[in-house]
Amino acid sequence: MNVHCSSHFSQDALELYSLGLVSVHGCSDVEEHLLICPQCQAQLEAADEYISVVRSAYILISARSNSYPRMRPMLVAESL
Ligand SMILES: [Zn+2]
Repeated sequence: MNVHCSSHFSQDALELYSLGLVSVHGCSDVEEHLLICPQCQAQLEAADEYISVVRSAYILISARSNSYPRMRPMLVAESL
Protein backbone atom coordinates (compact mmCIF):
# COMPACT_ATOMS: atom_id res chain seq x y z
CA MET A 1 0.00 0.00 0.00
CA ASN A 2 1.54 3.22 -1.17
CA VAL A 3 0.56 6.26 0.90
CA HIS A 4 1.40 9.68 -0.44
CA CYS A 5 2.30 11.74 2.59
CA SER A 6 2.44 15.16 1.00
CA SER A 7 -0.91 15.10 -0.79
CA HIS A 8 -4.53 14.25 0.05
CA PHE A 9 -5.17 10.72 1.16
CA SER A 10 -7.43 8.28 -0.61
CA GLN A 11 -10.37 6.77 1.22
CA ASP A 12 -8.46 3.48 1.26
CA ALA A 13 -5.44 5.09 2.88
CA LEU A 14 -7.60 6.74 5.52
CA GLU A 15 -9.33 3.45 6.26
CA LEU A 16 -5.92 1.86 6.75
CA TYR A 17 -4.93 4.76 8.97
CA SER A 18 -8.14 4.36 10.96
CA LEU A 19 -7.32 0.67 11.40
CA GLY A 20 -3.85 1.64 12.59
CA LEU A 21 -2.13 0.05 9.61
CA VAL A 22 -0.56 3.10 7.97
CA SER A 23 2.18 3.40 10.59
CA VAL A 24 3.36 -0.02 9.49
CA HIS A 25 4.41 1.60 6.23
CA GLY A 26 6.39 4.30 7.96
CA CYS A 27 4.25 7.28 7.01
CA SER A 28 4.58 9.65 9.95
CA ASP A 29 3.21 12.61 8.00
CA VAL A 30 -0.36 11.35 8.03
CA GLU A 31 -1.29 12.97 11.32
CA GLU A 32 0.54 16.15 10.40
CA HIS A 33 -1.44 16.44 7.18
CA LEU A 34 -4.72 15.63 8.92
CA LEU A 35 -4.18 18.49 11.37
CA ILE A 36 -4.15 21.06 8.58
CA CYS A 37 -6.52 19.50 6.06
CA PRO A 38 -10.29 19.71 6.73
CA GLN A 39 -10.98 17.65 3.61
CA CYS A 40 -8.99 14.67 4.86
CA GLN A 41 -10.36 15.14 8.39
CA ALA A 42 -13.89 14.74 7.00
CA GLN A 43 -12.82 11.70 5.02
CA LEU A 44 -11.21 10.17 8.09
CA GLU A 45 -14.42 10.69 10.03
CA ALA A 46 -16.30 8.85 7.30
CA ALA A 47 -13.70 6.09 7.35
CA ASP A 48 -13.95 5.76 11.14
CA GLU A 49 -17.73 5.51 10.88
CA TYR A 50 -17.51 2.94 8.11
CA ILE A 51 -15.06 0.79 10.04
CA SER A 52 -17.10 0.91 13.25
CA VAL A 53 -20.20 -0.16 11.29
CA VAL A 54 -18.28 -3.01 9.66
CA ARG A 55 -16.89 -4.12 13.03
CA SER A 56 -20.33 -4.06 14.66
CA ALA A 57 -21.79 -6.10 11.82
CA TYR A 58 -18.91 -8.55 11.97
CA ILE A 59 -19.26 -9.01 15.75
CA LEU A 60 -23.01 -9.48 15.36
CA ILE A 61 -22.61 -12.10 12.64
CA SER A 62 -19.85 -13.88 14.55
CA ALA A 63 -21.99 -13.99 17.69
CA ARG A 64 -24.91 -15.55 15.83
CA SER A 65 -22.96 -18.45 14.47
CA ASN A 66 -19.88 -20.02 15.99
CA SER A 67 -19.24 -21.85 12.77
CA TYR A 68 -19.16 -18.69 10.71
CA PRO A 69 -15.82 -18.48 8.91
CA ARG A 70 -13.35 -15.93 10.18
CA MET A 71 -13.53 -13.77 7.11
CA ARG A 72 -12.00 -10.34 6.84
CA PRO A 73 -14.24 -7.40 7.82
CA MET A 74 -14.01 -6.04 4.26
CA LEU A 75 -15.69 -9.17 2.92
CA VAL A 76 -18.47 -8.76 5.44
CA ALA A 77 -19.00 -5.19 4.28
CA GLU A 78 -19.34 -6.26 0.65
CA SER A 79 -22.02 -8.79 1.49
CA LEU A 80 -24.20 -6.33 3.41
ZN1 LIG B 1 -5.80 16.35 2.61
